Amino acid sequence: MRERVVDIEGSILRLDGGKCIVCGRCIAICRKITSALDYAYRSIDTAISTPFNVKLDESTCIACGQCTVYCPVGAIIEVDSTRRIKDILGRGMRPTVCIEPEAIIGLCEALNVKGGSYGKILEALKRIGCGRIILWKPKLKVTARRGSVELIPYSEAEARYIQVRHPDLLRYMANSPILDDRDSIWITPCLARKIGGGNIITVRETARLLTPLDINSLPEADFDEIKLGGVDREVVKAVGVEGIERVIRKMRSEKVEGSVALYVCPDGCLYGGGQPYMELYTKIKREEILAQIRNKIETTE
Ligand code: SF4
Ligand code: SF4
Repeated sequence: MRERVVDIEGSILRLDGGKCIVCGRCIAICRKITSALDYAYRSIDTAISTPFNVKLDESTCIACGQCTVYCPVGAIIEVDSTRRIKDILGRGMRPTVCIEPEAIIGLCEALNVKGGSYGKILEALKRIGCGRIILWKPKLKVTARRGSVELIPYSEAEARYIQVRHPDLLRYMANSPILDDRDSIWITPCLARKIGGGNIITVRETARLLTPLDINSLPEADFDEIKLGGVDREVVKAVGVEGIERVIRKMRSEKVEGSVALYVCPDGCLYGGGQPYMELYTKIKREEILAQIRNKIETTE
């Protein structure tokens, strides 16, 4: 029996030392990002912590959430917003919901929706009190002038990544997308979108809200609107830490021009830090659901 339990607090995510089984999966993934987590103490007292047990907000944590998708017991997890969202839905005002495409896929997986029938998720959202449902993706604003370079963070996590790993490049940073409507609910695969505050919930939290419903028995609803932002002009995508570091090495060794969109999560938002737990076959499963949804959209067009 461990005598020392280390909890780590944070405003976006926290670690419950009592639940942690010290498997080290969070450390393995975090070492590839900013090494905010490491082992502390020895033998039976071994625990997971930040340097000097500081809060996650005071460490090099960028709130990418990758540790949360690899933790097998949910010991490191987002600070829960479901109560707040339930309160909002309970007022009967039927708020607008903006949901990212990758979040739909994560919800189909988490709630075991058969055949990519994402319309059942939309119906379930309506049944818990949501109003209009918008399929949404942020618009990336490209502002680089000819002959210059700019780094566009897809969320606050990428902005923090550059701040922690490459502070000298901050002068090239554009702003991350802003979720400007404070009355809407935003369902996202990206944990870092919570940094700006507002009614933002991850796929995991949304799945918890919808779990009491028998999703597969519901009819299918449709989106009320589609607002997939895209980009103003052409950008280069740097995906995952390896992709970002490759672009930065190039920036340092030769003259680079243009706009680079940064995505810190490996393989992008489909594997974002707000998505369900990553099992061995998660990648195959998500790509299967994506293919089913694409197929469904093509046959209804
Ligand atoms: S959220 Fe990202 S940076 Fe923070 S501890 Fe987890 S893996 Fe590390
Ligand atoms: S992945 Fe979860 S259980 Fe494993 S060491 Fe990290 S916090 Fe603990």
